[in-house]
Amino acid sequence: MKYAIIIPDGAADEPLKELGGKTPLEAAGTPNMDRIAAEGKIGLARTVPDGFESGSDVATMSLLGYDPAVYHTGRAPLEAAAQRIPLSPTDWVFRCNLVTVVDGIMKDHSAGGISNEEARQLIDALRKRIDVPGVEFHDGVSYRNLMVYRGHEEFDVKTKPPHEIPEEPIVDWLPKGKGQDLLWKIMLESHQVFENHPVNVARRAAGKNQATRAWLWGQGHAPAMPTFESKFGIKSGCMITGVDLLRGLAVLLGWSVHEVDGMTSFHDTNYVGQGVDTAAMLDRYDLVLSHVESPDEASHQADWKTKIDAIEHIDKHVVGPVLEKLRTYPEWRILVLPDHPTNIATRKHGYAPTLFAMAGTGVKKPATPVTYSERNAAASGLKMENGHDLMAYFLRGE
Ligand SMILES: [Zn+2]
Repeated sequence: MKYAIIIPDGAADEPLKELGGKTPLEAAGTPNMDRIAAEGKIGLARTVPDGFESGSDVATMSLLGYDPAVYHTGRAPLEAAAQRIPLSPTDWVFRCNLVTVVDGIMKDHSAGGISNEEARQLIDALRKRIDVPGVEFHDGVSYRNLMVYRGHEEFDVKTKPPHEIPEEPIVDWLPKGKGQDLLWKIMLESHQVFENHPVNVARRAAGKNQATRAWLWGQGHAPAMPTFESKFGIKSGCMITGVDLLRGLAVLLGWSVHEVDGMTSFHDTNYVGQGVDTAAMLDRYDLVLSHVESPDEASHQADWKTKIDAIEHIDKHVVGPVLEKLRTYPEWRILVLPDHPTNIATRKHGYAPTLFAMAGTGVKKPATPVTYSERNAAASGLKMENGHDLMAYFLRGE
């Protein structure tokens, strides 16, 4: 049996005035997704449980069959897994953003999209300055770096993602709770180290946002997730994604990670290459998950035209070839679902249940075939209140 899962990130949405009351999925031409819905099942799944923020970390964990209430410890530990940083159960991981703070106000969570090389130099200076036993810094991509803490402090501290507090005074959002002093010390010292660092002197002269300090958030221990094989009995899996978060989940699941040339998180990504490679990986693995980030990014920009175009590219270049390849195997099944809605109207992730469609061996054909849309999914009456139950349902096939 071969399994394929395709995630058009954030593709689900609400009806839009600009589209005459249609959603982007309804407005887009998606013959392949429609075929899956028409040949199999369509329904809704609540991938963001109550009490969680809607994000790909939580929602993807759910749709993979892992209850976030049990397994979600934070965003930073998943990124540490992607970088294959070894962690013992008592170690902590924090996201260490390079941010721009001016007169105490959070101006930019990305320090002007600082380059990898500039970030590396600043993180290195911080590493030399900070003298706290057990603290280490790991370079990431641009402003997205990590701090690992292997010391004795037991944190019970509330932190805030810097992208959620633009133009707000940082003093209101500094880490609060047990262990805060250690974090404040590092954040304050980062300010002293960075202030007149040559990287910032050059950025200042060039009129770019400076990396004025490190901002710590998203902390957690390494999640203790059983492998996908031990949980579901599927021997081999492969993840194809342009996003570190999902690479990290794959590592924790015991899956391989396959990189596609030219794959990005935006609409400039190599859709054709991703479709070709996803189909090819089905020969080597029992399950292949192919994730495309571009509809989510377009939604954050409120760009419904690009969102529709991204959805159509995914349907044509990824879903189409994968479906064609699957039909060459004696037994196969496919699942297509956005991890969560991302709403053009608010430019934010939504909390409504997302839609899914599945087809293939053992999946009963519907009495009345419908197309792939949020409305048809809601009307089907099939609804998974616990999104993490969907994976077992898909693998069972009914
Ligand atoms: Zn997402």
